[in-house]
Amino acid sequence: MDAHVTYADLSELQDEFIELETADERIQFLIELGQTLPAFPDKFCTEEFRVVGCQSMVWIVPKWDGEQFHFQASSDAPMVRGLVALLLSIYSGKEPAVISAFPIESLLEKLHLKSFLSPLRSNGLHSMIRQIRQYAESKQSASDPHFSPKRDLQLDRAQDLGPLHLRIESIRADFPILKVQNESGVPIAYLDNAASSQRPQSVIDSISDVFSGHYANVHRSGHEWAVATTEKLEASREAVRRFIHASKCEEIIFTAGATASINLIAFAWGDANLKSGDEILISEMEHHSNIVPWQQLCQRRGCTIRWVPVRADYTLDFERFESMLSNKTKLVAITAVSNVLGTINPVRQMAAAAHAYGATVVVDAAQATPHGSIDVREWDADFVVFSGHKMLASSGVGVCYGKRSLLESMPPWQGGGSMIKSVTFDGFSAAGLPHKFEAGTPPIAEIISMKPAIEYLEAIGHDRLMEHERLLVGRAIAGLAKLDRVQMYSPALDNKCGVISFSVEGIHGEEIARVLDSRGIAIRVGHHCAMPLHSRLGVSVTCRASFYLYNTTDEVSRFVESVGNAIRLLSR
Ligand code: PLP
Repeated sequence: MDAHVTYADLSELQDEFIELETADERIQFLIELGQTLPAFPDKFCTEEFRVVGCQSMVWIVPKWDGEQFHFQASSDAPMVRGLVALLLSIYSGKEPAVISAFPIESLLEKLHLKSFLSPLRSNGLHSMIRQIRQYAESKQSASDPHFSPKRDLQLDRAQDLGPLHLRIESIRADFPILKVQNESGVPIAYLDNAASSQRPQSVIDSISDVFSGHYANVHRSGHEWAVATTEKLEASREAVRRFIHASKCEEIIFTAGATASINLIAFAWGDANLKSGDEILISEMEHHSNIVPWQQLCQRRGCTIRWVPVRADYTLDFERFESMLSNKTKLVAITAVSNVLGTINPVRQMAAAAHAYGATVVVDAAQATPHGSIDVREWDADFVVFSGHKMLASSGVGVCYGKRSLLESMPPWQGGGSMIKSVTFDGFSAAGLPHKFEAGTPPIAEIISMKPAIEYLEAIGHDRLMEHERLLVGRAIAGLAKLDRVQMYSPALDNKCGVISFSVEGIHGEEIARVLDSRGIAIRVGHHCAMPLHSRLGVSVTCRASFYLYNTTDEVSRFVESVGNAIRLLSR
């Protein structure tokens, strides 16, 4: 490839790129294009010139000659350097008005970059474009003397990527495990996402970076690695804060998972606030994690649990819930999304109704956060809990969000290092938030993995993700409905996420799951840690297929066909 490409070469470059057929060829082309960039001085690799919103490091330095902009730029990732070179060939040596008017989106379309790039890469590319355009706009809008190119520059969380199923191959390419085949050479269709999701390469890399780059304990030492690791951990806390729209990082407590978070609340808040005669309202569709800690609290404190029923249409009986509320209700603990039915509960309305009686509201968001950002302030929930492993991050990490005033009023739960301000022979005083509830060495790499996981979900966006899941689960429901003796447990499609639980009359779920497993289809069978719900449904076990952002319509077809085959096989 020639030395640095200029705007005049753009149509040639375009023609060459369009000719490329495979992803590998495009990657190679971009890497070679990146090599044509002139050397980038180290002195410019600073925060001032860094492009916010890129997964890799990208720096863009503008030079203004009085008429035109000339850009110098680089990245630490070879393929991204190719994208940088492409942008420079478009924008460098241009007047601000030309930069602003350049039809970049249609060029990206022509080059097939919109479908080829993964959501994170695409977001990064758009961040670069935005930064260059802001430089141009700064010259155009001389009326704003305080213009700062970096001001207000944020990740655009919902790029126009189009429906996920149209770019599913680029998404799947981000998840190395999806290339794995079973013993018969069949690719595994992983439909057990409600139990735990898979991880994209960016999350895997973030974990290995910790251990191969700078691992040390956090919030203790002042040496370089300790500082780097602590900063990364706190950057994850900030990412979580942003993702759930909490006001303050102090409200984000890292735990081992949703279960640990609920136990924290039950012990630290529950023991201090509940007494005999008080009532706890939970629904019949709760996971055991949102049942047993409250049952244990009742054993300790003598309070009572009351169950909000599930209606025949598999939604929560809101009217009944309202009628059960009273001055005795001290706590409402409710799941935002059922892990068995997929039902999405009206959390905001429930919190408002509960607050009218002065009750505290705990939301189990373990099945909500995998589908994208949530808004704890809009819900007005007092506590919200979830786990990393269901939302692309590592296992072993979770979050307990609590309103600051509540967390401040609560005594610490577990004691040990990190959670103290001082310790004497006579006692201790507790640290401030959030450390008061983070005793001992935390799951460091696991916490750090939350940030890239969140960034991945943000790059896709909640609406697009839900649209994809509904496409898949809708097809699964339509397919299963055609099979004899299949009973599904599902509310209407517009009130659920990508989970479908079902049973087959006369055939045990284990047998169905075994046949599917032999065909490379991974589903879950059992009570899914929701025994009370199963007893309400009148079954001991159900089969559950749960779809996620990397599942394909082909996998749904394989799944439905295999359930049909299993029924025929097992009915003989
Ligand atoms: N709540 C719900 C709705 C769940 O689906 C799960 C896990 O399946 C949990 C809580 C518990 O999560 P963890 O096992 O990660 O603590």
